[in-house]
Amino acid sequence: MADKNYKLNTKLIHAGVHPDPTTGAIMTPIYQTSTYVQAGPGDHKGYEYARTQNPTRTVLQDALAAIENGKYGLCFGSGMAATDAVVKLLAPGDEVIVSNDLYGGTYRLMTKIFAQYGIKFHFIGMHDAHNIVRHINNRTTMVWVETPTNPLLNVIDIAACADICKKHKLTLVVDNTFASPYLQNPLDLGADIVLHSATKYLGGHSDVVHGALVMNDAGLEERLRFIQNSCGAVPGPHDCWLVLRGIKTLHVRMQRHCENGEAVAHYLRSNPKVGKVLWVGFEDHPNHDIAKKQMRGFGGMISFTLKGDNIDDALAVLKKTKLFALAESLGGVESLIGHPATMTHGSIPREQRIANGLGDSLIRLSVGIEDVEDLIDDLKQAIG
Ligand SMILES: *Cc1c(COP(=O)(O)O)cnc(C)c1O
Repeated sequence: MADKNYKLNTKLIHAGVHPDPTTGAIMTPIYQTSTYVQAGPGDHKGYEYARTQNPTRTVLQDALAAIENGKYGLCFGSGMAATDAVVKLLAPGDEVIVSNDLYGGTYRLMTKIFAQYGIKFHFIGMHDAHNIVRHINNRTTMVWVETPTNPLLNVIDIAACADICKKHKLTLVVDNTFASPYLQNPLDLGADIVLHSATKYLGGHSDVVHGALVMNDAGLEERLRFIQNSCGAVPGPHDCWLVLRGIKTLHVRMQRHCENGEAVAHYLRSNPKVGKVLWVGFEDHPNHDIAKKQMRGFGGMISFTLKGDNIDDALAVLKKTKLFALAESLGGVESLIGHPATMTHGSIPREQRIANGLGDSLIRLSVGIEDVEDLIDDLKQAIG
């Protein structure tokens, strides 16, 4: 893209994309190839083998970098593959400080896979970012933050984390999956690496599993690109194309996710059978002032409990919704409903789960972009 100063909505559509040089096709072709013909040994057009480079992936990587206000993008076969690549920057003996209300798959990768390679992870509350300082020692090399978190929608102050990391020379990684680049740009707030499960809002249509990293530092990019190629968890060109197609409408989808999320959150608060409603946009939501500072909107992720916090009441609601589909995942155009205590967070012991604020009746909604009146009617008939 000629002009780096375009605004976000323009970048979502045009960044990285050029008309196909052979046909003029406006949409990037799916380069479904494993290798590239060379004129002579080493005489090629920058593409040698498709694990290392693929033109469809290149366009997507450039687009992702542009929309996160970063210099470099790298794509992976899933959000977890991207996470895996970042943790592989570390060496045995290194220590990482991680926000404790974390995507379950990330927790599993750290504790079940990388802990056995001698990397130590400290899971701590970061509601007050300064908690980080107390856990830093001379082996600490990285801080890992997810904000807003899943499913409690805790908000962590990225700029405050970045200040601490700069002072102690630590790499700050922010999983920006929940906010998407439309609502939040962690690199602008001082993060070193932004991570996405593009399976969620970036892809947006529940039809692809994909992951991405964006960064500004050339040295970090070189190391992560080396890991991407060496470990080989790369996405196929068709999956890259689906994400590229998805991000062209990220802004219009996110706008509607935010509007619908706000309406559903307020409806839930008005229902006497509902206990707590967690939505980042409420003025009394913990760290709402930080969300207002670092996010451009509050999104369509909502969690709520039922009065009495009874697990059976929650399961009855899950059975009754017709539009809200019972499923894992989030961020697609269709509305989803889930029960963390028995689904995504079932492996956490009950005592610990409840101590963390994740009650038996907690229900998580990924509010889609259907007509919001229909969504509210569906919840009304399900909750009563
Ligand atoms: C889904 C998710 C991931 C993992 O991504 P996959 O594409 O499922 O591998 C990581 N972080 C967050 C916050 C997620 O929601």
